[in-house]
Amino acid sequence: MNHKLWQQAYDRLFAIYGEDPPEQCLRRLEAEQQALEPTDAIQVFTVLGKLQAEAKRQNTVIIAAGTIGSSFAAWLMGATVVNPLVPHYLCPRCGKAEFIPQVKDGFDLPPKNCACGAAFTTEGHRIPYQGFVSAALEGLQTRIYTSTAFHPIAVRIVKAFYRDTALFLPVEKKSSQPVSWEEYIVCPEPGHSPPISSQGIWETNDLEYMLWYEGETTYIFDVSPQLDRLEKLGKATHVPLPQRQDLLQPLTLRAHRPSLPPGFPEDLPITCDTLMRIDALTRSAGAWTENGAALVRYRIADFWDIPAFREDIWNTLEDLLSRQDYPNSTVPLRVMERVRKGRYRDWEDRQELETVLLDFGLPGWYLLCLTNIQFLFPKAHGVQQFLADLACTWYRLHHPHCF
Ligand SMILES: [Zn+2]
Repeated sequence: MNHKLWQQAYDRLFAIYGEDPPEQCLRRLEAEQQALEPTDAIQVFTVLGKLQAEAKRQNTVIIAAGTIGSSFAAWLMGATVVNPLVPHYLCPRCGKAEFIPQVKDGFDLPPKNCACGAAFTTEGHRIPYQGFVSAALEGLQTRIYTSTAFHPIAVRIVKAFYRDTALFLPVEKKSSQPVSWEEYIVCPEPGHSPPISSQGIWETNDLEYMLWYEGETTYIFDVSPQLDRLEKLGKATHVPLPQRQDLLQPLTLRAHRPSLPPGFPEDLPITCDTLMRIDALTRSAGAWTENGAALVRYRIADFWDIPAFREDIWNTLEDLLSRQDYPNSTVPLRVMERVRKGRYRDWEDRQELETVLLDFGLPGWYLLCLTNIQFLFPKAHGVQQFLADLACTWYRLHHPHCF
């Protein structure tokens, strides 16, 4: 089945980017296929693609949390709205793509028309797939946020996809208190252990519904109050959820963030990239307060150089190593994975590595900044959250009577 699904991803590539797609699109898909073929990731992308299509039909939003939007294959299969490539224009009619690598985020590309006359969509958030691959090789866990109304529909769609699989296991929520996994999970066959966290306890305090497939692929469904609110706004105003091009208007962006939160430089431009960074730095642990904030205030670092998402670290180190003719090293991935879990400071090999990186021209403050970070969000999650937040802002702006 996986082979057929990967073929579908290629079919989607040719359908979206044309019969002769840009080299970097093809290379990215091939690299992802090679890395993800030992896993069932392509099945997860397919299921999420079905969920997204149904959510769109029902005028609701779902958010697939985590790094799933780091995958270009996932985007091609409709599993995520986050296109991870370098920022680019994409023509929905003829498939022409125009890459603009100097822009930080594709959402900030100004509106433009294709030569064929259609309006380009703006795509690309510069997200490497390596973090997703590393997580997928350990077992796929997909957390899906839905509205209350869409929750049972989402569960039904995922169940239907795995209908013929005996080991498929639904587990319903029993209490709002955290409980041990034995209370939740009934192993269908001897020898199949349930997924447990490193503490031996599956953290179930916010678990709504979990589906477990062959002990490797787990779907966790959570109801999101924010998505409930969005759905209610759609019903109250009789206006369907706004399209992305309406959300990315300067008017909506300014309404979303009329003033910057305390501690951020006051002269930051109101762009999508900046707003996503501010949101991420505010929500991350240890990245901004008493870390990046001081570096920017004393002009030691530029605001945009402070890692706000875990992939910023990968991009910074990969750029540095490429300039030194060390591309495709595992260093960016290893550092990113340590930092995002707050485990960089305790890394025994770090000093040896840092000597090399400093030699290559990485500023010392950067490494100091990494040691203070306890948690960083994946950018794919940040982009989806940003769009959901902007949709609420859009209703507030255009339908203030509902607030
Ligand atoms: Zn065109």
